[in-house]
Amino acid sequence: MDLAAFAEQVSGCTKCALSRGRTQVVFGSGNEHAELMFVGEAPGFHEDKQGVPFVGQAGKLLEKLLGEIGLIRSDVWICNVLKCRPPGNRDPHPDEIEACEPHLFRQIELIQPKLIATLGNFATKLLSGKPLGITRVHGQEQQATVGGLTVTLYPLYHPAAALYTPKMLEVLREDFERLPALLALDPPEPQPEPELVVPEPEIVVEAEAEPAAQLGLF
Ligand code: URA
Repeated sequence: MDLAAFAEQVSGCTKCALSRGRTQVVFGSGNEHAELMFVGEAPGFHEDKQGVPFVGQAGKLLEKLLGEIGLIRSDVWICNVLKCRPPGNRDPHPDEIEACEPHLFRQIELIQPKLIATLGNFATKLLSGKPLGITRVHGQEQQATVGGLTVTLYPLYHPAAALYTPKMLEVLREDFERLPALLALDPPEPQPEPELVVPEPEIVVEAEAEPAAQLGLF
């Protein structure tokens, strides 16, 4: 199945209650062969109306930062952990993340990006599989296996958080500036399967067999 067919399938998703309040599914947008993918949190008001991720204020900032490293939206793939807007832009709930996770993982498998920039805590924790928050891990690339694909994750502050905090914007911009160098690196080697520990065979010392003659068999 290609990405367009998958988008069509996801557009009718009713796996969680968010499907009842949405205008439409916000699947993702950009270059389906992108090497660089951005994963945000969830659609907001404008995204829900337009069906495109990051079209509000946070999206404008994301575009500006992309421009500063010589990229435009159509060079990259942009999507979210949740494909439907949570009411009042509240945080995603664990059951919603769980229901939506296969959509994101399948997208990653189909696009096969080299580098995934996770924007904020929700995307970072989901894709790294670790509970470490964005303040601890931003700007530090790490290898991860997502749906069988080995990718480099690069956690970044969420642009919405940086909008009103100049210090955070400064850090986000510095982290962003490393993106071209990270993209130029060789793709990560597939990670080895965890080594199987085969238990040593138990050595059983059998009692020496009695010579047949002594057993009175002859
Ligand atoms: N914030 C997000 O995380 N995603 C969007 O699409 C818009 C704002």
